[in-house]
Amino acid sequence: MQQAISFERSRLASVAIGATVLGAISGHWALCYAVSGIGLAGYNVWRGTQVARWLSGLRSEPAVYEGLWSFLVSQIHRERQQNRKTRKDFNQLLKRYRDSAEALPDAAVLIDNQRQIQWANRKARELLGIDGVLDRGQRVDNLLRDPGVQQLFEQDDPVRKTQIRSPQDETVRLTLRLSRFGKGALLVAHDISTILAAQEMRQSFVANASHELRTPLTTVTGHLELLLDNPDLDPESERSLRSVSRESSRMLAIVEDLLTLTSLENTQLQDKQCDDIDVAAETASLVDALARSPKASNRRITLAMDPALKLRGRTTEIMSIVQNLLDNALRHSDPDSEITVTWGRNSLGELTLSIQDNGEGIAPEHLHHLTERFYRVDAGRSREFGGTGLGLSIVKHTLNRHDGDLHIASTVGQGSTFTAHFPAERAR
Ligand code: ADP
Repeated sequence: MQQAISFERSRLASVAIGATVLGAISGHWALCYAVSGIGLAGYNVWRGTQVARWLSGLRSEPAVYEGLWSFLVSQIHRERQQNRKTRKDFNQLLKRYRDSAEALPDAAVLIDNQRQIQWANRKARELLGIDGVLDRGQRVDNLLRDPGVQQLFEQDDPVRKTQIRSPQDETVRLTLRLSRFGKGALLVAHDISTILAAQEMRQSFVANASHELRTPLTTVTGHLELLLDNPDLDPESERSLRSVSRESSRMLAIVEDLLTLTSLENTQLQDKQCDDIDVAAETASLVDALARSPKASNRRITLAMDPALKLRGRTTEIMSIVQNLLDNALRHSDPDSEITVTWGRNSLGELTLSIQDNGEGIAPEHLHHLTERFYRVDAGRSREFGGTGLGLSIVKHTLNRHDGDLHIASTVGQGSTFTAHFPAERAR
């Protein structure tokens, strides 16, 4: 650049000197200066016009080889080439993105903040019936009429998820995820029909097997009890019969729990099945009955319950939660320790039902697994108590059906608190 400026300065100096010499020779100073100035300006206008026409695309690149104009032309030329390269790289990158989005096994639909479709891949046509070209600009919720889609837009989480049936084929089930970014969102649909079919097959196998096992097991258990009633039994036979009877009762309990779990998983809770449950009164009568049974005799069970607070839910299911949690508290704490049942609201307005014991407690690494089927911290001891390993799993599923969840707090050697949380909307 410095070179170009120096060149222009010397050109200006040469023109000025030329005009001065001509003025001195001819004596027409003013005329010589005027002609030189106009000549210089005219030259610059001509060069400027060439460059402007080139930039407007009206002519090819001007051949300017000297001074500031040469510098400007080569600078613009370089920038243009750089821009062209950047645009080419960007287009290639965009193409790669589009190709990879087309190759996705999932349907992907890009929408703006008005829920209008901006782009969709090929799979979106197959799974959602959305054509990236023909449906561009249409509102996605006008094309996907499932109520789940509406709910998806109303949820607050950054990544929202729902399940719908494909509008193209009723037998195809999809999970729909909406991820927001900037002023738009990406809607991704994944075909889960095979996973659901396998899950349903597993559930119906477990349900059928449990159903088939229940009748013979009930018969065997009944007969064993009859045999045990025989007063002429020798002690050895009685011991073995008692052991067999205990095991068959345990198997029956597992089968019953499996059937309960299957029915909880496969059915939706209907409002017509629900009542405004007086949790305080129901728990008090359950504890009363429990206190008269051998497993809880002489146990101190303290109730701290809000009698005015009612819960909208299914009485048998809610009371099975209390029963399961109380059974566990009784099994895992000393006979002389206290158990406290609390029912009320927390600071968030949620309804909470807690069962607290001062028992053995649970190490932190087990806490996340406790609601898995057949998970026990100590399988041997659980069997000894007649546990099935399914109690907390049933509690979790029952709570899910009531839009609630289970929180577990425990310290080894100090005790555990199992708290069922229900949303405020279930309060009556
Ligand atoms: P189980 O029939 O074995 O009691 P659950 O699903 O009810 O099955 O409980 C799973 C496991 O959680 C139990 O085996 C036990 O190890 C642990 N657990 C449950 N409740 C308590 C409690 N109150 N205190 C200590 N451990 C508990």
